[in-house]
Amino acid sequence: MYADLALYIDGEWIAGGGRDSEKVINPATEKPLATLTHAGAADLDRALAAAQRGFKQWRATAPYERARIMRKAADLIRERLEPIARILTLEQGKSVAEARIEVAVSADIIEWYAEEGRRSYGRIIPGRVQGVRQMTVQEPVGPCAAFTPWNFPGVTPARKIGGALGSGCSLIIKASEETPGTCVEMVRAFHDAGLPKGVLNLVFGVPARISEQLISSPAIRKVSFTGSVPVGKHLTKLAAEGMKRVTMELGGHSPVIVFDDADPEKSAEIAAAGKFRNAGQVCISPTRFYVQENSYDRFVKRFVDYAKNLKLGDGLADGTTMGPLANPRRLDAMEGFVADARKRGAEIRTGGARHGNQGFFFAPTVITDMPEDCRVMTEEPFGPLAPIARFKTFDEVVARANALPFGLAAYTFTGSTRTANLISDALEAGMVGVNSLGISTPETPFGGMKESGYGHEGGIEGLEAYTQKKLVVQA
Ligand code: NAD
Repeated sequence: MYADLALYIDGEWIAGGGRDSEKVINPATEKPLATLTHAGAADLDRALAAAQRGFKQWRATAPYERARIMRKAADLIRERLEPIARILTLEQGKSVAEARIEVAVSADIIEWYAEEGRRSYGRIIPGRVQGVRQMTVQEPVGPCAAFTPWNFPGVTPARKIGGALGSGCSLIIKASEETPGTCVEMVRAFHDAGLPKGVLNLVFGVPARISEQLISSPAIRKVSFTGSVPVGKHLTKLAAEGMKRVTMELGGHSPVIVFDDADPEKSAEIAAAGKFRNAGQVCISPTRFYVQENSYDRFVKRFVDYAKNLKLGDGLADGTTMGPLANPRRLDAMEGFVADARKRGAEIRTGGARHGNQGFFFAPTVITDMPEDCRVMTEEPFGPLAPIARFKTFDEVVARANALPFGLAAYTFTGSTRTANLISDALEAGMVGVNSLGISTPETPFGGMKESGYGHEGGIEGLEAYTQKKLVVQA
């Protein structure tokens, strides 16, 4: 029922053979699902050599043919949606309904990049002298290395695999050791679709060792990472040694600003649905709620009702609307945030504690009356915590929303187009949702400002991130 885990190097599946390994745990039951083989230094050297050979071949493959293979892989992922979604839920915890959406979107992302790779256009720039033709062409940067986390085991690898392969690069991806099965199955779809060997390689192991070896290799020309700010800064420094380009999708602390001219109940429902998706383990999760004073009580009431009505349980069980947290580190973190808020005088309107005594469940939690500088308002919670504060004026709320070093997503609810324009100009965030939390699609650029990262995935920007421009001047 769970995945057949293995490394994938140079077109071959590799497991065991005396290598180190670790257990993959089901967060709903705390029981082991499978054993995951780690790549050693020699395996990584093989992957690097394979990615260099794979790059030569893939780069020389016409975008039309590359797109055909990628579309086939996307179709295979769609055909296998149900078993892959179950694997995703088993290893990560989210409800299988959410997992199905994630697998379907992963296929869409791969298809989008497959198609967009056929439109990687250059341009002609008029020469200063008659008869001179100046052209720019887009070339793939080379073999790439990517590192993905455990919260979206399908969508995040899909963005990196799609971007790299769609632009003609080869890739070594290290997916999360805690949620490896989904990526194994996506890579299997590429294998079955006839991807030439070496173009895509999948490894697991000790993250710091793998990133150090891959990023310091001259073979790797680009690094893409999704994860926490400290790890992102560390990998960016490693990449700088070789002047390698980076895409960094890091953490956030997304404010939600609800003005009095919005419908407080409707805004609360949309915001709460976004908050508790994937148990809050989402980098663009709404995390600080600022509600204008006249709407505050109604917003809080509806938000608390929504939280109380969620059904916690194993993601595979019927009716589950929120699964467990993905690992025990998140449980400890939630307890720390809540204890700090309580100590600082906050009121816990609902939740605030672990749920049950098996699995990493934490109750959906709504916090009010906390000071602005308490931990849940300043550090990324990455869990089902919703602190809700009051505000009075536009300028005051903009200053509070922009006060943190993060700048990933921000959301606002308002009935006024003028307020929507003013606030979306004023917010320091890479993505702003107005009356909507739907800011992530395959077609649109996804990325942050400030310490939330650098570069974009998705949209034409996501493809450009894996290409470099070359100028050709013909006299
Ligand atoms: P973490 O910071 O140790 O790890 C985050 C991710 O980075 C994991 O997938 C991990 O395998 C990887 N990683 C860690 N060190 C690495 C290295 N030296 N080289 C390559 N990869 C490395 O901690 P964590 O407990 O897994 O997560 C904690 C925090 O990370 C969360 O609270 C959240 O803020 C952030 N996070 C963000 C995202 C995101 O989507 N942006 C995803 C997962 C975690």
